[in-house]
Amino acid sequence: MTPIIPFVSEASQDERREWRDALPKALADIAVVKPFDTLSDEERMAARVAIVANPDPAQVADLPNLVWVQSLWAGVERLITELPADGPLIVRLTDPQMADTMSEAVLAWTLYLHRDMPRYMAQQRKGIWKGHTLLLPEERTVSVLGVGKLGSAAARRLKSNGFRVLGWSRSPKTIDGIDCFHGAEGLATVLAQTDIAVLLMPLTAETQGLIGPLQLAQLKPGAALINFARGPIIDETALLKALNEGPVGHAVLDVFNEEPLPAAHPFWTHEKVTVLPHISAPTITGTASKIVADNISRYFSDGTIPPSVDREHGY
Ligand code: NAP
Repeated sequence: MTPIIPFVSEASQDERREWRDALPKALADIAVVKPFDTLSDEERMAARVAIVANPDPAQVADLPNLVWVQSLWAGVERLITELPADGPLIVRLTDPQMADTMSEAVLAWTLYLHRDMPRYMAQQRKGIWKGHTLLLPEERTVSVLGVGKLGSAAARRLKSNGFRVLGWSRSPKTIDGIDCFHGAEGLATVLAQTDIAVLLMPLTAETQGLIGPLQLAQLKPGAALINFARGPIIDETALLKALNEGPVGHAVLDVFNEEPLPAAHPFWTHEKVTVLPHISAPTITGTASKIVADNISRYFSDGTIPPSVDREHGY
């Protein structure tokens, strides 16, 4: 019998419409994808795997025999906190296309900072004609904090564009051409050499508030930050202080404690902040649906469950 795969999502109407179109097509030869609210009691009881995107945890709990859930997002901090520890295994989306898109975003915004674009835009607004010393890419140290699927691709892309690149992770890593550090001591060593820091680690109990007053003070004077990870990894109050009083020269922020960023938030009008609406690497429906279909197809053919998140480490 063709398996039924529940699609459990409280994502926006537009997002759900896109997925409700793409997923059944990608899974057509494997299973029938059905939105949670259309499932019969038998179908709910029979489900072993579900596809989730911002799901209502109560609906996931209403699928009592789930073995695993396939998330459509790369970041799974909400699922980890909202689904019970003895609940289904959580498989996050890992898509090479997303790594490529993210590394393009990292390169684009690194070049924006490297070529002083915020400074020249501010000069234009004041009618100032003045050039500044041009540094070569190899004279800039770009540190990628979190060198997993996305961060390691971004580090390589930066390296191939001539930057000096450092990487930092929880466990020791080796990446060709990148000086890698790990742990708390490693972070201090990295920050002290950093011209541009790119955040690409997951939000976990350990990384929440990780970039606080102490870490910001360890940066070189005028250093810039790019946060493409999650807002709460940076202490926003400490960042504002470091922007106003030093050492931080500019911050490119794609993610925030509260999204959308509230209208009255000081980041909106701060001359040293570039605000982006969480766009650095959206899930691409087409490629992601194929990856989800492959994962589910393998599970039904030989029982293989893709690598799932480690709840102890929170990612
Ligand atoms: P990943 O493959 O799990 O890599 C995570 C990296 O962070 C690893 O290098 C890991 O270290 C490191 N890390 C985790 N905890 C750490 C800690 N306490 N101290 C130091 N390093 C730590 O994740 P990914 O696929 O690259 O994605 C990273 C994050 O990007 C996601 O969690 C998500 O929040 C964010 N994201 C944002 C967007 C956007 O549009 N803004 C899009 C997609 C994803 P180890 O190598 O030692 O494990």
